[in-house]
Amino acid sequence: MRIGFIGVGTMGLPMATNLARKGFTVTAYDLNPAAVQAAAQAGMATAASAAEVVAASDLVITMLPSSPHVEAVYTGDGGVLAAARKGTLCVDMSTIDPAVSRRVAAAAAERGLRFVDAPVSGGTPRAIDGSLAIMVGGADADVAEAMPALRAMGANVIHVGAVGCGEVAKLCNNLIAGVAAVAVSEAFRIAEGFGVDLKVVTEVISKSSGHTWLMEHMHPVPGLVPRAASSNDYRPGFMTDLMCKDLGLAVDAARALRVPVFVAPAAQQVLRLASSHGLGRKDFTSVYAFLKPSADQAPV
Ligand code: NAD
Repeated sequence: MRIGFIGVGTMGLPMATNLARKGFTVTAYDLNPAAVQAAAQAGMATAASAAEVVAASDLVITMLPSSPHVEAVYTGDGGVLAAARKGTLCVDMSTIDPAVSRRVAAAAAERGLRFVDAPVSGGTPRAIDGSLAIMVGGADADVAEAMPALRAMGANVIHVGAVGCGEVAKLCNNLIAGVAAVAVSEAFRIAEGFGVDLKVVTEVISKSSGHTWLMEHMHPVPGLVPRAASSNDYRPGFMTDLMCKDLGLAVDAARALRVPVFVAPAAQQVLRLASSHGLGRKDFTSVYAFLKPSADQAPV
């Protein structure tokens, strides 16, 4: 199967690499020439535009930053919908507003194309391993057709429901992960303030009710989990600005549904502040660095 992969950034590159490694013919395109070059170095064919990728593909996969990027790549001038052959299956794996997925799916259907949303969880380590969790929204037949490619990138591929439902599951997950990053960071700054060994605190929490996947795999404190971004100068990983975007999606959805939410907006604002202090392109667990108390505070 010939796959056109648009958006070979932090996540897209290792995902496309797994597809190529597992026997799919992958052509990559990205706005950023350095990303295209990295795809070529990983052994993929490359293209000069989204339209060129689509023309040569049976399946189109997109892995882009946010809703406006996805809408532009699909419905903009020279975009996927204008260039694809009738019947082409498009799978968007970006984390975006479920309403945008539904809008793009409707525009795709008008042109005789099919659209599935399939956002992912697990970050770069699991993108590299090919063990992502993938939550899928779409018609049964379309999801079945995309399944071999999705299984080449993920270990847990779950069909959640109709188009947009994958994104709903994803924004619920990231609400919890974003809040957890702030909560774990606050807790460990307190433990540090008391001078307690943070490795021992981690051991205790990992056997207690405060245990989270985030602490186990993405510990915000440097040096405790070797593969965590914190142990690598908070190199993303998952950027603070992307987590702000995802918490924003959750807060917007809650507003539209009139669900009262308190903790998600608070976590979003802490991360937004971290971003405004230069941590936007660092991993979102760098919020721990941001929460460091100042050494010259007056005693209270
Ligand atoms: P990224 O910014 O590293 O990669 C996105 C790529 O899309 C970039 O290389 C960019 O140049 C390219 N791009 C943007 N506009 C384009 C266009 N018009 N045409 C072609 N290419 C274009 O972001 P990422 O970390 O890979 O995240 C991608 C998506 O996956 C986001 O929605 C994010 O929320 C989600 N996600 C990321 C992680 C993670 O750990 N990084 C985990 C789960 C989900």
